[in-house]
Amino acid sequence: MNIIILDGYTLNPGDLSWAELEKLGNCVIHERTAAEDIVTRAKDAEILIINKVSIGKSEIAQLPKLKYIGLCSTGYNVVDIQAAEDRNIVVTNVPAYSTLSVAQMAFAHTLNFCQHVSEHSLSVNSGEWSQSPDFCYWKFPLIELQGLTLGIIGFGRIGQSVAKIGRAFGMKVNYYDITVLPDESATFLKVNLETLLRTSDVITLHCPLTPATEGMINRDRLSLMKSSAFLINTSRGQLIDEAALAEALNTGKIAGAGLDVLSTEPPAPHNPLLSARNCYITPHIAWATKAARIRLMKTVVQNVRAFLDGKPVNQVN
Ligand code: NAD
Repeated sequence: MNIIILDGYTLNPGDLSWAELEKLGNCVIHERTAAEDIVTRAKDAEILIINKVSIGKSEIAQLPKLKYIGLCSTGYNVVDIQAAEDRNIVVTNVPAYSTLSVAQMAFAHTLNFCQHVSEHSLSVNSGEWSQSPDFCYWKFPLIELQGLTLGIIGFGRIGQSVAKIGRAFGMKVNYYDITVLPDESATFLKVNLETLLRTSDVITLHCPLTPATEGMINRDRLSLMKSSAFLINTSRGQLIDEAALAEALNTGKIAGAGLDVLSTEPPAPHNPLLSARNCYITPHIAWATKAARIRLMKTVVQNVRAFLDGKPVNQVN
């Protein structure tokens, strides 16, 4: 079998191994592939492994040997699922490999607002502590999470992991979700979206990008938030109206935003959030801890092996 990897770099920038996949066929690994090179590079592929390159109807029509598309991600919106199905091409994803890493990132951003470790450290490095008349000083209000309200929008795998961490910090945890959830959710309080927005000190987004969630954090909803509240987004950038968030930050309507995702990635240089007040942005790295990438690589290989054995797993079409 010809196995072609089109954009393997972010999964394995050099600290993991493709060896297990290479045992399953003739592997060609590309670190990145521009849209115009997809068809040329994939033309002999029976098995195609991708992360963020787009395989639409037109690409599928030009790849007659293709039998399988393996995604190195949970989301599969980059593939035209219907076109794949029409050709009996199996498409698989990797669910849940990064749940705890993403939950941890939601708190990395939350704790950043509480203690500003990096900024205080830079201030010490620049000599400010050495010149201080006191034994200590702080450049931002310091915040204890105990007793504050954490509002989680989207109470699936990641949302529920975030809830447990919030509870360990002594936070009151509320959530909003459109589905009725079993077990875990029973120990946390379900509220409506308006109540969550009005009462939370930290609001964190964990729902998928769908037509219903696109732009859900808009000007009206931001205006319901406390002026002392922080918004955290490790989900998808398109959930937020970015111009409205930049305005809310710059006018002090909310206290800060910690974002791991933006509507366009990489962002355009004029994205208003890049220069907004109290806006901290990480470059979509919540999923990318080494532990999560090891799990991801393992499942990518297991998915291909199961397909070759005629019993596909994690099939999304
Ligand atoms: P999940 O499917 O387990 O949970 C999503 C939850 O959102 C579900 O309970 C669902 O009912 C709820 N939901 C759907 N529509 C909603 C709506 N309109 N309002 C409120 N709730 C709604 O997914 P998960 O594994 O917890 O992942 C959540 C999201 O995190 C993913 O969809 C993905 O976008 C994002 N993610 C980001 C990274 C990263 O690196 N930043 C990594 C993995 C996942």
